[in-house]
Amino acid sequence: MLLEDPKPGAPAVRRPIVVQKYGGSSVADVEKLGRVAERVVHARRAGNDVVVVVSAMGKTTDGLLKLAHDAVGAGGAGGEGREPARRELDMLVSTGERVAMSLLSIAIQARGVRAISFTGSQSGIITNDRHFDARIIEVRPHRIEDELARGAVVIVAGYQGMSYKREITTLGRGGSDTTAVALAAALGADRCEIYSDVDGVYSADPRTVPEARHLPELDHALLQEMAESGAKVVCAQAVEWARRAGIAIYARSSFEPVSDTPRQTVIRRFAPGDEPRARAIVGHRQLAHAALGELASLERAERLLLDAGAAILEEHVTEERAEWLLSLMSAPGFAEARARMAAELPSLAVTVGLGLVSVVGGGLTERGAQLVAFREALAAAAARPRRMLATALRLGAVVDAASVPDAERALHARFVAL
Ligand code: ASP
Ligand code: MG
Repeated sequence: MLLEDPKPGAPAVRRPIVVQKYGGSSVADVEKLGRVAERVVHARRAGNDVVVVVSAMGKTTDGLLKLAHDAVGAGGAGGEGREPARRELDMLVSTGERVAMSLLSIAIQARGVRAISFTGSQSGIITNDRHFDARIIEVRPHRIEDELARGAVVIVAGYQGMSYKREITTLGRGGSDTTAVALAAALGADRCEIYSDVDGVYSADPRTVPEARHLPELDHALLQEMAESGAKVVCAQAVEWARRAGIAIYARSSFEPVSDTPRQTVIRRFAPGDEPRARAIVGHRQLAHAALGELASLERAERLLLDAGAAILEEHVTEERAEWLLSLMSAPGFAEARARMAAELPSLAVTVGLGLVSVVGGGLTERGAQLVAFREALAAAAARPRRMLATALRLGAVVDAASVPDAERALHARFVAL
């Protein structure tokens, strides 16, 4: 049975708008996709306008990237050591979400509910032209609004948009979250629900730290700090959008039964009763460091690093030298690019295999004792800090990637599990 449109001439009632985002693990196979369809239909039948943002099924994106790298060297092409063009990577990986969106739309229609799927460009997601790591600059969701007004559930392919040059772009790994929050902001949605295989945000990654605690409430600033430190719960760009637009995010598991009171983490501007203290430990294992011993090639070095897909987390420029701390989360071809950079600009020294461990919370630099405890915990975990960073919201140390897990456990015991 189709949900009915408003009768002609009847006063238009604005239904609440809900944006739901489902991650790759929630739609890993057709069976799971069916369960997601049930959840969507439930939200629609409860009287909401529903926009669903989907990620690619399971590990599809990784599989496609592997294919791209295989294609570089295939058939004796002599392309070994070269990176695939980032524009073509976007054409390729954006198909993953397109498969998921259409299958979900089919599964919802099979349940008698009107649904339509749109790509990022059809949804009006306009980005800059930085392929494979683009930023959303504008959202023009007219087609989505028209379909909602017709009573349809709208399924949107996450992680992708169209540049102002009309090229297909993608938003960096994990970017479907950004699609969801940016759409929620543009549509004036009442809420944005982000579904994955975990029921919210924890005080550390439970796979590394078994004692990690569930956090029922968080404010935007802390989650943004966690995401920028490398936590993958919700991607950093998405939290930034949520914070600017004041959108509340409900992080939930898609594997729990539908409920009005699910176990979840609610992230909003202010979390009630939040005293300033350490809340979470975040480990990041895909970091690199670059140093340039002369400044004549500063711009060239920056260009080379960005073209290789590295995201600059920090930059220090003194009178004689420049240094960068880089995240390689959206830099699949960095190993190949590194060889090319060494040949092109020998004065640029790049170190890979680094990680970052951070304590995130409030008031962390108020008392010197916290810094002492931070150093002691690192020493106890035999994690040698190569550099440290301290702000009111974060204590961080760059260490070898291999020592990140032990450091996470030691810091959690010392700061959070009190
Ligand atoms: N499928 C993309 C990725 O794996 C985007 C996402 O999952 O949000 O990074
Ligand atoms: Mg994915």
